[in-house]
Amino acid sequence: MLTNDQLDKWDRESFFHPSTHLAQHARGESPNRIIKTAEGVHIQDRDGNRLLDAFAGLYCVNVGYGRQEIAEAIAEQAKELAYYHAYVGHGTEASVTLAHMVMERAPANMSKVYFGLSGSDANETNIKLIWYYNNIRGLPEKKKIISRWRGYHGSGVMTGSLTGLETFHNKFDLPRAPIIHTEAPYYFRRDDLDMSEEDFTAHCVAELEALIEREGADTIAAFIGEPVLGTGGIVPPPAGYWDAIQKVLAKHDILLVVDEVVTGFGRLGTMMGSDHYGLKPDLITIAKGLTSAYAPLSGSIVGDRMWKVLEQGTDENGPIGHGWTYSAHPIGAAAGVANLRLIDELGLVKNAGETGAYFVGAMRDALAGHTHVGDVRGEGMLCAVEFVEEKAGRKFYDPSKKVGAAVAAELASMGVIGRAMPQGDILGFAPPLCLTREEADTIVATTAKAVKNVLG
Ligand code: PLP
Repeated sequence: MLTNDQLDKWDRESFFHPSTHLAQHARGESPNRIIKTAEGVHIQDRDGNRLLDAFAGLYCVNVGYGRQEIAEAIAEQAKELAYYHAYVGHGTEASVTLAHMVMERAPANMSKVYFGLSGSDANETNIKLIWYYNNIRGLPEKKKIISRWRGYHGSGVMTGSLTGLETFHNKFDLPRAPIIHTEAPYYFRRDDLDMSEEDFTAHCVAELEALIEREGADTIAAFIGEPVLGTGGIVPPPAGYWDAIQKVLAKHDILLVVDEVVTGFGRLGTMMGSDHYGLKPDLITIAKGLTSAYAPLSGSIVGDRMWKVLEQGTDENGPIGHGWTYSAHPIGAAAGVANLRLIDELGLVKNAGETGAYFVGAMRDALAGHTHVGDVRGEGMLCAVEFVEEKAGRKFYDPSKKVGAAVAAELASMGVIGRAMPQGDILGFAPPLCLTREEADTIVATTAKAVKNVLG
């Protein structure tokens, strides 16, 4: 077996890590952690440290680590048929079964699922389908897509443009046309502190209407949003937000793309986040929880009204010019089938709702009174703690102090992984959906200690 020192050396020399300070990493100034094994909600590194992963990897290991049912399904699929493509009507038992299972779990009025590999490529697919749709309808000018500041939809050229976070734009010449952004539904960060939550919702709606008016509804094809803002800060929407937004979209013939990469398959205590907020999507993006990340797989679920136009398009123009070599990869599909079965058998959707509510409540009880905690929020198995320098007047810390990152590092040193969210001093949690109340208590107690150690 390779020594840790050997791996460390090769890592610094050869590995270009995503979302990493490249120079510091190459110079050996920032730590690396090489993960060896995992079970339930715990991961273990090669130095023998065992950590409670309260972010489920990147909000993706919904069923928890080490599930043999999924490992065996993957192994059996690899032995029987490791690969065949899905072009021109080809499939496998696993991919056809998974398509059926996804559609059984989708909201009403959805028609078919296209499989990709990542959340980013699924949103790329969505953008192409939206443009195709309006071309077939004879509306070639109706192409702009509205996203929200602080939304996260991937880090490709177009999906990084949909994303509304500075680090994913700066120095990359993003966002590209025709992506435009509107107000983030982030009540805690409203400009006017005297605004009620309902008034803030009305403000977000007014901002959207003003944008549509400025740009012209006949140039706007779609609006994309996550049911709960994820990487932008783990922020549930203000009261009445989605009902009001959907009315505006319907009025202007604007498609709704619901990005359920984080919320799909149980995280909010409902099978889909769309069920939780009464959303009626035209497209749904899925990934992460579809396989609990045991293998890469994503999907674009297409609604009835778009599907009819896609069929018309291929009758007029021939087969659709879109596809990846690995679309509906049999190994990912086999993982997906075993994973969705497990979510049902273990009652994880219910647990996400119940234990999630307990977890967020306990975090609030433990931390909301702290001098430097401005907000504790969450929904289902998602939770965030936002830090402020002063509560009065909601004074945020200077970002260069990196307070959120310091608390996350302290928490990790005490055996619990949370995530310092990329914009703002926000500590995020998205544990596996199998979290128990005892494990929730451990996360909360350790977080309270970490906050005290760093901020007093
Ligand atoms: N959409 C949402 C809501 C996400 O949270 C993510 C990733 O975190 C993506 C899309 C992009 O997924 P991927 O990283 O698999 O490309």
